[in-house]
Amino acid sequence: MKNIISVDVEDYFHPSEVQGSSGVSPSDWDTLPSRVEDATRRCLDLMARTRTHGTFFILGWVASRYPGLVREIAAAGHEIACHSFLHQLVYDLSPQQFREDTRQAADAISNACGIAPRAYRAPSYSITKRSMWALEILVECGFTHDSSIYPIVHDRYGIPGYPRNAHAITTPSGPIIEVPVAAVKLSESRTTPVGGGGYLRLLPYAYTAAGIRRLNHRDQMPACIYFHPWEIDPHQPRLASGAIARLRTYLGLGSMERKLERLLGEFEFSTLAQVHSAV
Ligand SMILES: [Zn+2]
Repeated sequence: MKNIISVDVEDYFHPSEVQGSSGVSPSDWDTLPSRVEDATRRCLDLMARTRTHGTFFILGWVASRYPGLVREIAAAGHEIACHSFLHQLVYDLSPQQFREDTRQAADAISNACGIAPRAYRAPSYSITKRSMWALEILVECGFTHDSSIYPIVHDRYGIPGYPRNAHAITTPSGPIIEVPVAAVKLSESRTTPVGGGGYLRLLPYAYTAAGIRRLNHRDQMPACIYFHPWEIDPHQPRLASGAIARLRTYLGLGSMERKLERLLGEFEFSTLAQVHSAV
């Protein structure tokens, strides 16, 4: 079964964990040494080595600064998708602010490579019960797919009990296909995250591999997996402060690329558009 591999293209100072604990704000971003081009090229090399194509959810801010990088991603045959412009949590924005951020991001990405993104992923999976209104705005902005809902319990994101399979959602502006991030159901009341990112980085490889096998074989469901360029960049500056933020952000950076290479070799992966084609 073909699973989805996705890369959220952002710099080491963009994750919500870093923004929330470091005191660094968007007005500081231009003054920080950027590492996103080199780290993303390492992702492209990794995927070329494992002959894998994936979906790259690109931050509009990155696309506006490094349009050549967006063209490199497209030229390598990957799907071009959108990860907002300023990496703000959707439930902290008004619908109008979300619309403006999304339009700005989609414009920056299509100006860079000539491709209008059709798939969206919210920063930190911040489409939750209190921000479901965002889906209608995504349809208005031309999106056909969203992958922003994590069907788990977490302090910042997640809709516990939400369906784990991809499905169409009807909004007043039209339908959109929601592709939730991979999660395994352990019992009627317990679902555990598998999605990649920190869970792949912090836990043993066998945890993620067993989760994908269970989804593919028992549940007959493709797994939607993600990671970030900064997760394979062990030499990034450590901006996050506080024990939990530092652990979530920096633990396991040294072994992540090796784990990803093993994962991409062991399972079949493709783009979100290929796995879930039409609305
Ligand atoms: Zn992100």
